Amino acid sequence: MIKVKLYNTLTKAVEDFAPMKAGQVGMYVCGPTVYDKSHIGHARTYIFFDFLRRYLEFKGNSVKLIINLTDIDDRIINRLQKNEAEFPTWQVVKDVFSRDYFSTMAQLRIKPPFTFPQVTDHMQEVISMVQTLIDGKFAYEAGDGIYFDVNKFSDYGKLSGRADTSHAQARVDENENKRSQQDFALWKFHKPGEPFWHAPFGAGRPGWHIECSAMARTYLGPTFDIHGGGADLVFPHHENEIAQSESANGAPFARFWVHTAFLTIDQTKMSKSLGNFVTIQDMLTKYPPELVRYYLLSAHYRTPLDFSWEKLDAARLQWDKLVRAWYETIQKTESKVHGRTDSVEAIESARKDLMTALDNDLSTPEAYAVIHRVVGMVAQGDLNAVSLKTARQFFETVDDIFAILPPPNWTKREEKLARMLAELREYFRRGKEFNISDEVREHLRKEGVELDDSKEGSKIRFV
Ligand code: AMP
Ligand code: ZN
Repeated sequence: MIKVKLYNTLTKAVEDFAPMKAGQVGMYVCGPTVYDKSHIGHARTYIFFDFLRRYLEFKGNSVKLIINLTDIDDRIINRLQKNEAEFPTWQVVKDVFSRDYFSTMAQLRIKPPFTFPQVTDHMQEVISMVQTLIDGKFAYEAGDGIYFDVNKFSDYGKLSGRADTSHAQARVDENENKRSQQDFALWKFHKPGEPFWHAPFGAGRPGWHIECSAMARTYLGPTFDIHGGGADLVFPHHENEIAQSESANGAPFARFWVHTAFLTIDQTKMSKSLGNFVTIQDMLTKYPPELVRYYLLSAHYRTPLDFSWEKLDAARLQWDKLVRAWYETIQKTESKVHGRTDSVEAIESARKDLMTALDNDLSTPEAYAVIHRVVGMVAQGDLNAVSLKTARQFFETVDDIFAILPPPNWTKREEKLARMLAELREYFRRGKEFNISDEVREHLRKEGVELDDSKEGSKIRFV
C-alpha cells in the first residue's frame, strides 16, 4: 500500500509516514484552554486532525487519538478574577467552556478521541515527571517555581530552530533567578487566591507545557507516532514538551510533528485574546456543519486561510453542487432511473487521483478538484446504472474521509410534510401570489427540497 506522505516539522521535510506498530497509530493533539467559547480557528485545527485521523483509518489503521483540555492555567484564573459574578470558581469556568467545546466538536462531526484528559485529573503524573526532572538535575528551583534548565538539553531548538539560551536577553519582567532566558516553569509555587496541589517540591500548580508531556506518556508511552497542534504551538510549547519528555524519559518523543496554519481574519490570526473571532456556535446557527468542514478543509492545512463571510458563501456554491450530485446518485440508484453514459472508468480513475492527492501530504485543494470532476459527470445527468452506483460509492468514500456530505435522512413523515407544503405553495403560485410562493420555495430549498416549476405544475426533488 502506498504510504501517506506527511510534512514533519521536526525534519522540515515531507516524509513517508508509517506507524511504529503496523496498523496502530498513536496521535496526541493539544487541546484548548477552556476559558472562552471555541471559535472557527479552533475548528480549523480540530477538523484537520479529525480528517487526518479519518484518512489514516481509511488506509487501514486504528488511531488512538488523545486531545487534552487545559483546565488550569493563568488565563482560566484571570477569567475567574475578572468575572467573579458569572464564574464563582475556576471549576465553573472549565465546566462551562469544556461543555461548549464538546458540543461544538460533536456538531462538527469530529469523531470523539480515545479520551480528553484534563490536567487536574493527572496531577500525580505531572508531579512524578517534575520530580524525575529535578532528580536528573534537568530542573531547579528559582524563586517562584521549579524551572527547566534548557542548557541541560543539547537538542533544545531542534523543532523550532529557536535555541537562544543566553541570559543576556532576559526580559525585565521575567524571573531574574532563572539561569537562562528560555528556561521555563514546570511548576509554579502557590500564590494566595490561586488553586494549588501538594507536591514534595512545594505546593503549587503545573506550568503550561508539562501537562502534555505527562499525559502523552500516560496514554501513548514515551515514544509515539504523531503530535499535532496549531502553528503557534511550535515554539515554545512543543519545543518545551520535547525537552521535558526526552530528558525525563531518556527516549525520543513524537516521531512526526504536524502543525496547522492559522485561520486568519484580515490576515491576522483569529484568537480569543484579540477578540476578532467568530464562535463555532454562531457559525452553526447560520451554516450546516458539513459546509463549515468543506470550507475549512478547502485550503491546504499548511497554508493560512483568511476567513470572510463572502468566501464562505462562495464555497457554498461549490458545496451545493457537490451535495446535489451526491443526492442525485442516491435518488437515481434507489429509483432505478438512469441514462446511458458509461463513466465507470473515469470515476475509478478519479478515485485513484483522490488517493494520490491525499497521500501527498493531504492535499485537499487537489482532492477537491478531483471530487468536482465526478460532480461534473453526475451533473451531465445521463450516467448509466453502473456509473451511478460507482459515483455513489465514490461520494461515500469522500464522506468517510472528509465528513462533508449531509446525511440523506428524510423520514417518510418529513417527506409527506414537504410534499404538503409544496402543494400548498402551488396554490399560491397559480393564484399569482408570487411573494408567498417564492418564500415557501426558499424555505424548502434550505431544507434540501428543490421545486422545478413548469407549465404543467411543479415537480418536487429531494436533493
Ligand atoms: P488555545 O485554546 O488557544 O490553546 O488553542 C487550541 C488549539 O487551537 C491550538 O492547537 C491552537 O494552535 C489552535 N488554534 C487557535 N487559534 C487558531 C487559529 N486562528 N487558526 C488555527 N488554529 C488555531
Ligand atoms: Zn500541548
